[in-house]
Amino acid sequence: MYAVAQIDVDICSATSCRLCTQFCPESNTINYDVKRNTAYVAVDRCKGCEICVGICDTLAKHHAIKMVPITEVVEGFEMSKLGFHKF
Ligand code: SF4
Ligand code: SF4
Repeated sequence: MYAVAQIDVDICSATSCRLCTQFCPESNTINYDVKRNTAYVAVDRCKGCEICVGICDTLAKHHAIKMVPITEVVEGFEMSKLGFHKF
């Protein structure tokens, strides 16, 4: 089962962290939404490496990212059969 990173918006938005956005090896995959004050994952770009989970857990100590099966993810896709998804 392919797993992708998912960020808990409630936890992340309570911080002003942004740390994980500097470590994801895939460009434009963890982005930052300044309006919602949270990082978010462009799910269809995530390669499932789990680096961001270690950064959030160990460095930031916020525990806001978990890996979830892509089949359980309903939001966060930039491209879909329905067109461009706005975060
Ligand atoms: S490291 Fe965690 S708390 Fe920090 S921006 Fe990323 S998801 Fe949010
Ligand atoms: S699992 Fe890897 S590719 Fe996916 S968002 Fe996290 S650091 Fe980026």
